[in-house]
Amino acid sequence: MTPSKELTNMADLVSLSKQRGFIFPSSEIYGGIGSCWDYGPLGVALKLNIKDSWWRAMTDRDDVEGVDASILMHPRVWEASGHVEGFVDPLVDCKTCKGRFRADKLEHASCGKKPSKNPGKTEECQLTEARNFNLMFKTNMGPLEDSSSIVYLRPETAQGIFVNFDNVQKTARQKIPFGIAQIGKAFRNEITPGNFIFRTREFEQMEMQFFVKPGTDMEWFEKWKQTRIDWHLSNGLRRSKLRFHQHGPTELAHYARAAFDVEYEFPIGWQEIEGIHNRSDFDLRRHQEFSGKKCEYFDEASKEKYLPFVIETSVGCDRALLAVLCDAYRIEGEGEEARTVLKLSPKLAPYKVAVFPLMKKPDLLEFTDKVYADMKKNFRATYDESGSIGKRYRRQDEIGTPYCVTIDYDGLADGTVTVRERDSMTQERVSATQLVAYIQNKMSGWKAE
Ligand code: ATP
Repeated sequence: MTPSKELTNMADLVSLSKQRGFIFPSSEIYGGIGSCWDYGPLGVALKLNIKDSWWRAMTDRDDVEGVDASILMHPRVWEASGHVEGFVDPLVDCKTCKGRFRADKLEHASCGKKPSKNPGKTEECQLTEARNFNLMFKTNMGPLEDSSSIVYLRPETAQGIFVNFDNVQKTARQKIPFGIAQIGKAFRNEITPGNFIFRTREFEQMEMQFFVKPGTDMEWFEKWKQTRIDWHLSNGLRRSKLRFHQHGPTELAHYARAAFDVEYEFPIGWQEIEGIHNRSDFDLRRHQEFSGKKCEYFDEASKEKYLPFVIETSVGCDRALLAVLCDAYRIEGEGEEARTVLKLSPKLAPYKVAVFPLMKKPDLLEFTDKVYADMKKNFRATYDESGSIGKRYRRQDEIGTPYCVTIDYDGLADGTVTVRERDSMTQERVSATQLVAYIQNKMSGWKAE
């Protein structure tokens, strides 16, 4: 078997992402801006595929509806949700190095002085008392910049769902239990962003709030835990790299009945990629109190009125994408023969098929054009005619294209093409008329290794 190495250093992925057009540093020509990233042509395709995978998994169900709420919301929303008061991190400043650190994460921080040390660990360090810093970005709505015009960039998408609970339930004529799903940007003025797109100040969330009758909440919680881990597996993440972490009493939010994180083993260690929470009736109760509008549900069958409990599943799109890239990244072989390959699930790969003519000869190009047009009708496909076939394979390996189709002179004679599989590197001759079905079949049988 070819020796295979996994990703051990995030910098290798940052570099591949930049070179191949997945992810670029934001505003790079100006020197970049703290942990903001731009998705390039392949990154945006991968991200859309992840969002599509999530959206379908959620809204193909009869019991989940979609919404797309605005980023700017009434400021009272954030008082009701507890974010104005409680969405804070404790911060300390160092008067010597002028660094600012999270007081609860000092052991993971390093100061700007050389050689870099843990803040507070040397005699030189002069740390201030911890003070609370609110993570919400503030801005002003309209031309006046006074306290009456303050609005926040939402730090989570969930509140756009809670405030629309009644609208959605009535217009979609849903009965409890049912859920509302949303994908959208969220903003947090994180103190310690970093590790590529793992923690950024602007990111996308895919959240679903499932409204249930109190008393049935733990049963639904267990169902959603399973459904969500299955989704990560369906994206090709290996089971051995996924685990649940249960929040203990000190981690649990005061309103939460239960919380589990789905964790992935990144090169930086096991980290959360998704949170699954039993939020009780906290959010609807608070919005009812702060808005003065009833958020209760009336059950026609039993004639009961109650505030539903909420099971929340909340996954960062960028973080899920980072896990997908980390999991797929391999270096196989050694020396001259080594290849970097992204073993992405075909479902998520930006291109499913690449088509190459062996040479740039008119008769070959004519057949190649036909095959390429056929591929494009059925899959997201790309075309490459430059460099040796070996180089072209390597380029596709690095961007995760699962199947390469080469058109040569033998094929002109008998109507066949060569299909080369990214993962096994095996090649097979297939009739051009059977190619679509052949690739579809391969894609549906693909398994993570
Ligand atoms: P963390 O402990 O990593 O800060 P959290 O517990 O605050 O995360 P939640 O508020 O539960 O996260 O958000 C749900 C999901 O949103 C997380 O599991 C993660 O995937 C994503 N997420 C949260 N903060 C960020 C961020 N700053 N950058 C990228 N993704 C994020």
